[in-house]
Amino acid sequence: MGLVNCSKCGRLFGTENDDEILCLRCKEEGYESDFKKVREYLYANPGADIEEVAEATEVERARIMRYLREERIEIVDEENALLHCSRCGKSIKTGRYCASCEADVKKELSGALDTMRKLNEKFQKPAAAKKTTDIYTRNITDKK
Ligand SMILES: [Zn+2]
Ligand SMILES: [Zn+2]
Repeated sequence: MGLVNCSKCGRLFGTENDDEILCLRCKEEGYESDFKKVREYLYANPGADIEEVAEATEVERARIMRYLREERIEIVDEENALLHCSRCGKSIKTGRYCASCEADVKKELSGALDTMRKLNEKFQKPAAAKKTTDIYTRNITDKK
């Protein structure tokens, strides 16, 4: 861990990585302005692949990949082979899953939620019954 001066704002910041030249604040700032550049470039060149985008905008490839993962941008070409579905490995345009896996994952998720809800109902019934008894007892005591 060393202290480095940010090459943009001059602020001193701690870093694990000696090569790091931008403080976190400036880095995130760049992240947003780079995103605008990438988005504008893709808007003007909808068919561009990641190499073209990186070259034209001078934005790091890794950063463009991050935008893709965050579903902030989309690569139009279906066969770009840049992103793969984390479930079946098919090439995808944006996000984590291909359309059919996303549907499957959602189905599985709601199935799991249903099971959990049923289990919860099972466990909560005795507790609810106990509560009613408590209220009943209290009412009788109040009358006295
Ligand atoms: Zn800075
Ligand atoms: Zn898939």
